Amino acid sequence: MLEKTGIPTSDDLKAIKPDKERLKKGPVALIECFRKIPCDPCFYSCPFDAIDEFKDINDIPNLDYETCTGCGNCIASCPGLAIFVVDYNKNTLSLPYEFLPVPEKGDLVWGLNRAGKKVKKAEVVRVKDPAKNDKTAVVTIKLPKEYLMEVRNIEVGELNG
Ligand code: SF4
Ligand code: SF4
Repeated sequence: MLEKTGIPTSDDLKAIKPDKERLKKGPVALIECFRKIPCDPCFYSCPFDAIDEFKDINDIPNLDYETCTGCGNCIASCPGLAIFVVDYNKNTLSLPYEFLPVPEKGDLVWGLNRAGKKVKKAEVVRVKDPAKNDKTAVVTIKLPKEYLMEVRNIEVGELNG
């Protein structure tokens, strides 16, 4: 399915999801990068060395969940928009966002699933859009737990008139 639609299968996702114990400890990155492509900025973006150094630039990133602090520094570094941070304690999801307008804290947005379908309304709780991110904002939204592994994009505008 991934090859045809770009949407990962549940097996693909199981392979990158930390176990329950790690999820309980706090925020952690999820790297949904499943194709061997010549790309490695995620490795260089991590200040905690939680992503293993690539032996080959085509390698798929390997994240050490215990070392990852969930700081989110890697999110905007990924040209494939494949990195997210989930926090199961605060029920938040941080994601990369490259469209305009960039939402603001307090806005209501639609949470979209990997197929682009609207699945849940969500409140924006934080937006980071520094110049160094080169127009990739990092938007954090609040969601019920059951949507943290489902929502992977947002639609901005419709719910704020
Ligand atoms: S969230 Fe922070 S600590 Fe975790 S992999 Fe990304 S940059 Fe590294
Ligand atoms: S930067 Fe993104 S697309 Fe590139 S290897 Fe890392 S996760 Fe994959």
